[in-house]
Amino acid sequence: MEMPNKTNRGYLASTIGCRCPRCRQGKLFANPVTIRLKDNMKMNEHCPVCGQPTEIEVGFYYGTSYVSYAITVALSVVSLAIWWLTIGLSVYDNRFFYWIGANAVLLLVLQPWLMRLSRSLWISWFVPYDPDWKFTKPRDFSERINKEQGANW
Ligand SMILES: [Zn+2]
Repeated sequence: MEMPNKTNRGYLASTIGCRCPRCRQGKLFANPVTIRLKDNMKMNEHCPVCGQPTEIEVGFYYGTSYVSYAITVALSVVSLAIWWLTIGLSVYDNRFFYWIGANAVLLLVLQPWLMRLSRSLWISWFVPYDPDWKFTKPRDFSERINKEQGANW
């Protein structure tokens, strides 16, 4: 059976690229990655391609701090492993402390993107990919949205 609407973007590429999980095409965020926090985290209210709302309930992204924490820990483990294999670690010198500094800089530089990645991952766990997105409507979550309560959770 032919699926003319299937995109070539897989789950990982779509999520890492911060694309809408439903169509895997539209961008979740309004601006390019920036160190200005407010601009960086500004999301398109709806996916510009398929119309999927990016906030599907009040306080939807509240849990993303746990996701970014988990990613931070995972990245630190990877960077420690790479450091250990390339530069090495010893109890007789300061190499471990140099790693702590280098790792902190790495996490700081990646921070704007990590915060986006956490949201992208988060919404990808709630909104499934729909290969027929061109012909179907996004699930209606409007009864779970309360504009007045938007920032009040
Ligand atoms: Zn979309």
